[in-house]
Amino acid sequence: MSFKNLGLSEPILRAIAEEGYSKPTPVQEQAIPVILNNNDILAGAQTGTGKTAGFTLPLLQRLSERAPRKGNRYVRALILTPTRELAAQVGESVEIYGKYLPFRSTVIFGGVGIKPQVAILRKGVDIVIATPGRLLDLAEQRAINLSQVECLILDEADRMLDMGFIHDIKKVLALLPKHRQNLLFSATFSNEIKKLADGLLNKPTLIEVACRNATSEMVEQTVHRVDKDRKRELLSHLITTRDWKQVLVFTRTKHGANRLTKQLEKDGISAAAIHGNKSQSARTKALINFKEGSVSVLVATDIAARGIDIDQLPHVVNYELPNIPEDYVHRIGRTGRAGNEGEAVSLVCVDEDTYLRNIETLIKRPIPQVNIKGFAPDPSIKPEPVQKKNASRSRKRSRSFGRH
Ligand code: AMP
Repeated sequence: MSFKNLGLSEPILRAIAEEGYSKPTPVQEQAIPVILNNNDILAGAQTGTGKTAGFTLPLLQRLSERAPRKGNRYVRALILTPTRELAAQVGESVEIYGKYLPFRSTVIFGGVGIKPQVAILRKGVDIVIATPGRLLDLAEQRAINLSQVECLILDEADRMLDMGFIHDIKKVLALLPKHRQNLLFSATFSNEIKKLADGLLNKPTLIEVACRNATSEMVEQTVHRVDKDRKRELLSHLITTRDWKQVLVFTRTKHGANRLTKQLEKDGISAAAIHGNKSQSARTKALINFKEGSVSVLVATDIAARGIDIDQLPHVVNYELPNIPEDYVHRIGRTGRAGNEGEAVSLVCVDEDTYLRNIETLIKRPIPQVNIKGFAPDPSIKPEPVQKKNASRSRKRSRSFGRH
């Protein structure tokens, strides 16, 4: 199967060829014809499957089948994402794949000035990629008109619900015309997602590229048992002895991310933290340095890491296991992307046994445990309850786009 056979037009094929894609990924193969046929879809696809191109390419094609009316640009497609990082990355994809088409797109998220966004919207755009909170702020100011939207895409819908966006999503839906195409992408399928899909989608085609809640076959997963207060030492040991050059490390809290970053720096390992207490420019800088290789360890919280798009990320480390098992699937989905092999290592102390069990139940297989010499846990240490985060994973969020 080639992109051409899927019915995509020359300007889109040219942009894809320039990206070096030789053939569509499974989600693209399944989603593109359905979307071109104007059907709704409910797609179970994780980051790394090529889902962004899976909806962006046919969206561009459909929009190009009807040229924009001159002097009268209006928002024809709306892509909602849970985080600013993901919005920015999807926006980048829209620009790349649409570079030979005459569309204007813009990315809208909170945490930055609203005025430049108002100015861009005033000039007219065809495609808007947005996080829900800021979009609603703009709609309240009448800076954006969504009454002509032809296609709505919810990307990483499960994460949007996790972040408490359901009410905002409903408010956005109320601003859209009744007759439109709807595409819903989600890595996992909770009952809440099914409820949202039932209310939103019209006879959707179901597309599933991997087993539900399954982890990529391309990711080698291991657990290293270790005492809590020796995790940092073990992490430094792994990074240096295995010569890891690009590692994404997950901590449960922002404070934990900062602390670990400082400790790694003390061990002579270049590290940067990425979480919601950092300014947008600090996050972007950390990400650029990481991609360029001047920073070898990026320490992130779950939500900040959401949507980070780094090709061929070889190592993901769970410094602490997530208390929400689905987050494990999301985290390790950062590696083993687009056909490359990846490695996901979890450092697990005795306090986290329940988390590990819940994760293994979700992914329906045990994760192999490998002991690292010199780091065997002290059997006399008894489990203690894991400290809960102070509301950083609250399901409620402020209208000013909660930072995580
Ligand atoms: P996504 O799942 O949308 O986050 O995409 C994961 C990565 O796969 C991105 O870096 C894309 O650039 C890349 N990608 C998307 N489609 C293809 C394709 N058909 N062939 C090779 N790489 C692709």
